[in-house]
Parts: sequence; structure tokens; C-alpha cells
Amino acid sequence: MLLPKFDFHEPTTIEEACQIMAELGQKAKLIAGGTDLIVNMKRKVLSPEHLVSLSRIDALKNVDLSDGPLRIGACVTAAALAESEGIKRTFSAFSKGASVLGTPLIRNLATIAGNLVSARPAADLPPSLMAYGAKVVLKKSAGERSVALEDFFRGPGQTVVGKDEILTEILIDKPLGYTGAGYIKLGVRKTLEISLVNVAAFISLDSQDGSIQRARIVLGAVAPIPIRVPSAEQILVGEKPTETLFVRAGETAAQDSRPIDDFRGSAEYRRDMIEVLTRRALEMAFNEARSHE
Ligand SMILES: Cc1cc2nc3c(=O)[nH]c(=O)nc-3n(C[C@H](O)[C@H](O)[C@H](O)COP(=O)(O)OP(=O)(O)OC[C@H]3O[C@@H](n4cnc5c(N)ncnc54)[C@H](O)[C@@H]3O)c2cc1C
Repeated sequence: MLLPKFDFHEPTTIEEACQIMAELGQKAKLIAGGTDLIVNMKRKVLSPEHLVSLSRIDALKNVDLSDGPLRIGACVTAAALAESEGIKRTFSAFSKGASVLGTPLIRNLATIAGNLVSARPAADLPPSLMAYGAKVVLKKSAGERSVALEDFFRGPGQTVVGKDEILTEILIDKPLGYTGAGYIKLGVRKTLEISLVNVAAFISLDSQDGSIQRARIVLGAVAPIPIRVPSAEQILVGEKPTETLFVRAGETAAQDSRPIDDFRGSAEYRRDMIEVLTRRALEMAFNEARSHE
């Protein structure tokens, strides 16, 4: 399949990229790793007149784990995220999501911003990032804004990013004290698989043997966008973590989700899996939380 014709732009700074996007508007698309965009262009789903590559902008390739929140540049690849020991240590669930995305070839190209902006319901990076309470920074020539990832997705392939905006950074506050998280992806195959269901869970405890202070449960692939399940989260808050409690949270998450039937799995199977995977993700989060300080 041949690609449609387009003009190619290679800015080397964020400001230059913003300027080009402001001038070209609807006619242009940003390209990072191209693993999503090029497929859509070959299928003729998209045929932009201009492609604006972000791959020569070094400022978008940094991971900053020093003081303050973790800052990840838009063009950091899934492979780099999965290989980072610092990310694995502090954000294990996110590291797991990056390590199961596609294949090594895809992970070497696929960027974090591309994964978020392509807004596939089953994508591997949004659930854990939402569970950690991540924010994204969107820039354009006229200024910048920060958006909580929870408010970022609008539907399959749709986000709040404007035509002239560039997602430049992802920010995640470092979890303090007794906190932990877990991420589980379920597919039909072990590799190169789109999730049937994916679940991320985050909890913080008020002390090593204490009660749950905060909880976030995020489900992917069971709605048009990744969703939190407040009803299941509320069951956890203020309670001592026990197996029975996690089973109840799993049951509630399954009851309050609306998965669909498709060729990869039935809604009933998905609902059963939400129950099981929510419980397991909470157990992972709890085990990490009580071993952390
Ligand atoms: C064979 C195969 C297997 C895959 N398996 C998985 C999988 O298991 N899990 C999973 O989650 N995904 C999977 N994917 C999907 C894909 O790899 C990811 O969505 C990828 O992260 C997209 O990133 P990219 O850098 O390639 O984005 P691109 O294709 O370059 O761009 C995707 C979209 O994001 C926009 N964009 C990119 N960067 C920015 C930015 N900084 N600011 C604003 N807009 C931007 C582009 O304009 C475009 O609309 C798979 C894809 C393929 C082809």
C-alpha cells in the first residue's frame, strides 16, 4: 500500500513545531514514531497534506526523575520507558504497561505521547498513568495548558488536544509513603496483542499495616475511553486491606462496567475478567504499598 503524497517538516525546537502547526492548521498532522499514523495513512483513513515530525526535537526525549514530579518528554519511546530502572522502581505499573506494548520493534518506535493521542480504548499506557494521577502539558504558539489525563480522552481516537497543540510532557507526582500500583493486560495471545481487558490499580495506606487512604482503579478496553470505577474505589477507602475487600471491589468494578461483545471475547467473559483482574491488580498494589516507604 502506497502512502498518499505529503510535505514533510522537521523542526528542531518545540517553538518551531508550534509555529508550523499554527500556520498549517487542519492541513497538518504531527508524527512521532509513526506506528499509528502511518498505518492510518496507508489505509487512507487519513491523508494530511503536511507531516510535522517531532523526532528531531531533543527537548522532547528527556526523562527527568530528579526533584519534583517525574517528567517524561512526549517522544520517549515505550522501549526507553520499559528499560528505565528509575521508572521501574517508582512507577512499576507504568513500567509494566510499557514493557507489554506491542513487540520490541513497535516499542522502539512508539512514543508515550503518540500512545495517548491516538486514544485507542485498549492502549497500554493510559490506565496506569491515570491510576498514578498523571497530567499532560499541551503547548501552542499562544501558550500552554496542563490537563489531567482523566479529562484528556473524548472517545476512540479523540482527545482534547487542539489542531495547533503539541503534547510536550507527561507529569506524574512521585507517590510518597506506603503506596503501590499494579497493571495487568489480558489478551488472547501472549504477545502482539490488543487487550481484551486491562486494569490498573493504585492504593496508598496510612501506615505499613494501616487502612487504605486513597484508591484508584482504571479499566481499559471495556468502554470508548479508559474509565475509573469510583464505586469500587469507595469500597476500599478507609478500610483495612483484606482479600475479601479486594474481592468486593472486583465484583463492584465488574457490575459497574459495560463491556461489549466482539470477535475477541464476549461481554460476559470480559466482565468476569474485570472482577478477577481488579482483585489481582489491587493485591499487586497492596503488596508494593506495604513494602514501600
Ligand atoms: C503491530 C502493532 C502493534 C501494536 N500493539 C500495541 C499494544 O500492544 N499496545 C498499545 O497500547 N498500542 C499498540 N500499538 C499502537 C501504537 O504502537 C501506539 O499507539 C503508539 O504508542 C503510537 O505512538 P507513535 O509515536 O507511533 O505515534 P504516531 O503514529 O506518530 O502518532 C499517533 C497520533 O498521535 C499524534 N501525536 C503524536 N505525538 C504527538 C504529540 N507530541 N502531540 C500531539 N499529537 C501527537 C499524531 O498526530 C497521531 O495522530 C500497536 C501498533 C502496531 C502497528
